[in-house]
Amino acid sequence: MMRTVPGVSPSDFAKAIRQFEQAVGADWVYTRDEDVDLYRDAFSPFLGEPEERMASAAVAPSEVEQVQQIVRIANQFKIPLYPISTGRNLGYGGSAPAYSGSVVVDLKRMNRILDVNEENASCLVEPGVSYFDLYRHIQERGLKLWVDVPDPGWGSPLGNALDRGGGYTRPQFRNHFDAHCGLEIVLPDGELMRTGMGALPGAKTWQQYKSGFGPWIDGMFSQSNFGIVTKMGFWLMPEPEAYLSGSVLAAKRDDLYQMVKILNHVENSGVTNGLPDTGSPLLGIQTIEEFAQAMEDKPQPAPDPALLAARDKAEAGDSADLEAYGSRKNMAYWQFKLKFYGPAKAIAAQWEYCKDKFSVIPGVRFEDGPLYRLPLSAEQRENVHWPEFGIPTLNMFSIGARSSSNPTPTHGHMWFSPIIPRTAEAVFEANKVFAAAAREFDLPTLRFSLPSCYWERAFIFIFAFPVTTDPATNRKNRNAFHKLIELGAQHGWGEYRTAPAFQDAIMNVYSYNNHALRRFHETIKDAIDPNGVLSPGRYGIWPKHLRKSR
Ligand code: ADP
Repeated sequence: MMRTVPGVSPSDFAKAIRQFEQAVGADWVYTRDEDVDLYRDAFSPFLGEPEERMASAAVAPSEVEQVQQIVRIANQFKIPLYPISTGRNLGYGGSAPAYSGSVVVDLKRMNRILDVNEENASCLVEPGVSYFDLYRHIQERGLKLWVDVPDPGWGSPLGNALDRGGGYTRPQFRNHFDAHCGLEIVLPDGELMRTGMGALPGAKTWQQYKSGFGPWIDGMFSQSNFGIVTKMGFWLMPEPEAYLSGSVLAAKRDDLYQMVKILNHVENSGVTNGLPDTGSPLLGIQTIEEFAQAMEDKPQPAPDPALLAARDKAEAGDSADLEAYGSRKNMAYWQFKLKFYGPAKAIAAQWEYCKDKFSVIPGVRFEDGPLYRLPLSAEQRENVHWPEFGIPTLNMFSIGARSSSNPTPTHGHMWFSPIIPRTAEAVFEANKVFAAAAREFDLPTLRFSLPSCYWERAFIFIFAFPVTTDPATNRKNRNAFHKLIELGAQHGWGEYRTAPAFQDAIMNVYSYNNHALRRFHETIKDAIDPNGVLSPGRYGIWPKHLRKSR
């Protein structure tokens, strides 16, 4: 039994499927439940409920011309499409469409690495090229280039960048969309377009100069539904000579104000050029690096009850006991781990400069981390957080897995990820607001959390909301998620990315001047995709005929 597409007659759908088969070959069109179900979102917050987003079929082209044909067929029969690259976007929607009944256009077979240029430190890839593919390609050829990878490192450079994901190395690479240089796009009417220098036929600089000529429209193809990207260029990071890390350790709660200010200065000046890693030994907040390395299934010693009591008091607003505990046990309140990539001599000097700057904080201490000359030795490799060295890994999956410290794992998670200002004031305020909200909305108690520094100049919190197999619990958590979006917006905080389940709600709070931004998106959508065939609903952009259902 074939599935159905809303608003499309079963006979038209069957005709469209036959035409898809003619375009790509019958082996590459999937209509049976057992195949189509592979595109369900394993982390869907609607597990087992009618609202779960379901595809009606899937089609897997191998060539750009086939993508164009698919789009033209979809226009003829008004079939909604949902392109994915490798569809590994777990926590942000996976491979399931934003609108049920869409046909997933699975681009995994378009997996050619079209160019890797060592001198220019750039590449040009198709959507199905995974981080592992690109990493291996570079390793096999012995090229001195790094790919900035997300963690976990499955997924694709192209899909991750289009959803504006991030990584772990220097700022201009860890912002994956910022690192791109040139796009090729199949537009919603089947037309093929190239951006940047790619618009100049025979251009020699498609992956060298980003903006080309005229309005720079590349951003419109990220977090949107304006085209199917079939090629994407990226700038890669030349393998640095060396890597160094160093920790800044401060003793008092209120030291955070100065620490963040100084951190911002040394980062914005380019003096520290890795991902700053924040933690609090006293509050029990691990740095990302510690978190990633603590994944082995080792039973943890029970914390000292005196420490737990002091922590509770600190979270209730009185840090005196916790600070005293820290000074007795030589434990820091705050730890900022700075990372440096570059020539060994230069980065040693950069770390010295940072120490000078942080020295204005009374009682501050420093710990010199290791200096590694690159490439890493096999032994060094065992002891580092791979993504900081451009090495993709799946280790992150062991965090949620069943273990002695996690006997009842959840069924997945949805990420709630608000952007807040890069100030200590904002960190304290957001903690207060979100902890009160957790109590109010009956969520698991929220301990004090530190935000991350993935993006320059802003902090980001990344909270995992559990997904369970119980619809009532999922419903409660979804409601809380909606309330947090509203609450964040009231404080001027907005999310950077979300799963389709919450895209309308988040777009709805980006409402300046009576939703001028969303209205602009809709004007563009209507102009370039009048039949509304491309990823309806993605990031809150609906075609006209579905807008009332928003
Ligand atoms: P990854 O390959 O990293 O797993 P996904 O394929 O999950 O990334 O992509 C994330 C989202 O970005 C998808 O759900 C889809 O909406 C959009 N997307 C991915 N690839 C393309 C593409 N080539 N063209 C247009 N949109 C895309």
